[in-house]
Amino acid sequence: MDFTSPIQMVDLLSQHQKIQMELDSAVLKVAHSGSYVNGPEVKIFTEGLKTFLGVEHVIPCANGTDALQIALMSLGLKSGDEVITAAFTYIATAEVISLLGLKAVLVDVEPDYFGLDIDQVESAITSKTKAIIPVHLYGQAANMERLNSIALKYELEIIEDSAQSMGAKYNFSDGRTEMLGTIGTIGCTSFFPSKNLGCMGDGGALFTNDRVLAERIKMISNHGQKIKYQHDVIGCNSRLDTIQAAILSVKLNYLEEYNSSRQRAAYFYDQGLGNLSTLQIPKRRKDSSHVYHQYTLRVLDGSRDSLAKFLNDKGIPSMIYYPFPLHFQKAFKSDQYPIGSLPVSEKLSSQVLSLPMHSELDEQIQVYIVETIKKFYEV
Ligand SMILES: *Cc1c(COP(=O)(O)O)cnc(C)c1O
Repeated sequence: MDFTSPIQMVDLLSQHQKIQMELDSAVLKVAHSGSYVNGPEVKIFTEGLKTFLGVEHVIPCANGTDALQIALMSLGLKSGDEVITAAFTYIATAEVISLLGLKAVLVDVEPDYFGLDIDQVESAITSKTKAIIPVHLYGQAANMERLNSIALKYELEIIEDSAQSMGAKYNFSDGRTEMLGTIGTIGCTSFFPSKNLGCMGDGGALFTNDRVLAERIKMISNHGQKIKYQHDVIGCNSRLDTIQAAILSVKLNYLEEYNSSRQRAAYFYDQGLGNLSTLQIPKRRKDSSHVYHQYTLRVLDGSRDSLAKFLNDKGIPSMIYYPFPLHFQKAFKSDQYPIGSLPVSEKLSSQVLSLPMHSELDEQIQVYIVETIKKFYEV
């Protein structure tokens, strides 16, 4: 099949071109204002995001990894305190725990939904455990209802890694619905260009409903100062650029539309691939919407790598998020987690394959991708 341009995992340029005039004028306005750091656009964007999320406080920062780091710093943990997180996630989630001298305690995930396995979280809790970082991987929630009750029972803080789940909602059994990222003590997100809400460089933010924590977070992200040149705590320098904030204000208006496009594309893949016995299409939780940061298959018969190669030969990109669980990384290797100790994460790393997914995915391209996958399995 011949398409005018190569198929892409993520097509940022097409998304850009549709609203280019709006974005250009937002960027130029900042360029011509001379106000490049903490300009008025930063406040405008954070106010917009507050309204969108229904959260009391949004504190912007330089990227999603910083958001996670600042969140941990704001909780005032001591060296050696333990933070529980998933073994199957992006390195950033756990990296910041170790970087701060805290102990990353890795637990397995649910094989069907890729979120924290809550039974294992509970078994991993010790007297040193202070916080849990659930990751809403690929755009769908971890089991927040159960996690909340465990956090209450053991008096632990929850930091949500919402880098992949902007705009997704969680439904509690009492009928309440809340945006992911606003449920835990602190939520963290990233505005990396390929995320569901992405800017033209790096960006991130923290969310909280706790006023005192919000003040602390602001202070930490600004060199530990509330008043200029009075540094109360050790902080860091982590800001969202004015120009990125201006871009994000424009894109926030389209986030729901972008997420709906992703959901449409996901259902299209589902229809085409749902009855192949070798593939498990993404399963949906009843308690969460799914915003498909990734559309990730599980290839159940060991053919993942040869399928990826076949697709690549036919001009179809695919990606493995993530090829190794964290305890297989040199940086995290320890006797505590030998091979076989986190079996679900290990298995998922050998099974997952993410297909092209973005807000501008063309149906013709999806037909071609589905047909090519079927051809590989000769169905
Ligand atoms: C992207 C991402 C991050 C880090 O965000 P950056 O802005 O790249 O620092 C953290 N956690 C997860 C799950 C991510 O996908």
